[in-house]
Amino acid sequence: MVGVWGDPDAVQHCYLSLYAQQHRGQESAGIAVSDGYGLSVHTGMGLVLDVLPGRVLDDLTKKMRAREATDGGPATFGAIGHNRYSTSGGSQACNAQPLLETTADGPVALAHNGSLVNTDAWRTHFSERGHLFHSTSDTEVIVHLLASPEQRSAPDPVAATLRRLQGAFSLLFLFPDRIEAARDPWGWRPLVLGKLPDGRDCVVSETVALDVIGAEAVREVEPGEIVTLSDSGVSSRTFAPPSPRLAQCVFEHVYFANPASYIFGQNVQVARESMGAKLAEEAHIEADYVMPMPDSGRSAANGYAQASGIPYREGIVPNRYVGRTFIKPTQNERRAAVRLKLNVISEIVRGKKLIVVDDSIVRGTTTREKMKQLRDAGASEIHLRISCPPIKHPCYFGVDFATRDQLIAHERTVEEIRKFLGVNSLHFLSLDGLLSVMKHKPSEYCTACFNADYRIDIEHPLTGEVVLKEQQSMF
Ligand code: SF4
Repeated sequence: MVGVWGDPDAVQHCYLSLYAQQHRGQESAGIAVSDGYGLSVHTGMGLVLDVLPGRVLDDLTKKMRAREATDGGPATFGAIGHNRYSTSGGSQACNAQPLLETTADGPVALAHNGSLVNTDAWRTHFSERGHLFHSTSDTEVIVHLLASPEQRSAPDPVAATLRRLQGAFSLLFLFPDRIEAARDPWGWRPLVLGKLPDGRDCVVSETVALDVIGAEAVREVEPGEIVTLSDSGVSSRTFAPPSPRLAQCVFEHVYFANPASYIFGQNVQVARESMGAKLAEEAHIEADYVMPMPDSGRSAANGYAQASGIPYREGIVPNRYVGRTFIKPTQNERRAAVRLKLNVISEIVRGKKLIVVDDSIVRGTTTREKMKQLRDAGASEIHLRISCPPIKHPCYFGVDFATRDQLIAHERTVEEIRKFLGVNSLHFLSLDGLLSVMKHKPSEYCTACFNADYRIDIEHPLTGEVVLKEQQSMF
């Protein structure tokens, strides 16, 4: 996500920032603009490059600056952008964001990173009262909440709306006169404020998106905070106290984020190298090479090689033009992508004892395919090292791993997984080992996919009662 306020190049900045954050979602993309009075949006299915060609960017910029041209005076304008990776609702055009809706108080566009856990009950509640939904995503519920009489009559409707939500949300609201950026009280997903060289304010999911537009990171949006970007600059308020059990997603560091980014105040590349070094400490073995599974195993493999003194060597070559396999929506797409994605160099691996380092194993089918390619190329032994613990439980907070039954580590021992993958040995980084290389206290990270500590009870949105049935069926 990205938001830029008051900059004549806001659309271009959004485009570049979305491009830099393409890894966070490849299903759809879009940009919404404000001209100070109304909003316009362009969204589409596909990658940023395809959805937002130059003519679309020119058109959005014209719309954003339309009032400036008419009135000739200083104008109010801004833009927000979004890359979507579906965790709720399907991979469909109607779910592309920013989501533009018109309420009785005027238009609003929304961009959401994360996943809400209490929207089904809200959706039923509103549907029974005749509300029409245009999408199947959880994000649209936020607009219906914002437009409902209870929130509209509150002194701060945005804050009142956010207090009704449960789950993971880093959100950008674009109103005609401002951007409101908010982060859930648990802090699941990152959200960072930045300053452009011309002094204008911006907000992004990852700092790598600031680098590309020459902006400097100012600070993170705090859990439970709303930050407003407007012609008056930046102002802040709290909609809820930060949870005593913060839940910053540790998997952002393991896999999701760009290595160049600072997530929760810590550089991702350095964190991954430290995970690799920990792996070497926990499961040392002599071998000819430490070999990364590209691309996401590279940083940890580097750390492993440095810590163990075993030479680092790349023998698996990625096709750079194939996207990340794990976030493709269907299993068939993922399988085809793996075959397209990796070539093994037999001359390097033949007859060699390899320590292969990868970041994670989700369903296991992708990894098994990769191991087979290595064996077929003549590797004498494969010792697989994974820089996070076994993923045993689904994520409900913004990472679409799979259902519990599809996870290879759910109710399987490490030995059973080793056999399935066809490797000589297998070691997953321990949870203590992983948390020991994180910047903050272990208690401040979400680790639910490893240990089922989901941090929150699912409450009925209207009664506040804990909905145990729903909780049991989810967990
Ligand atoms: S369950 Fe796992 S992937 Fe999901 S937010 Fe928690 S740590 Fe991140």
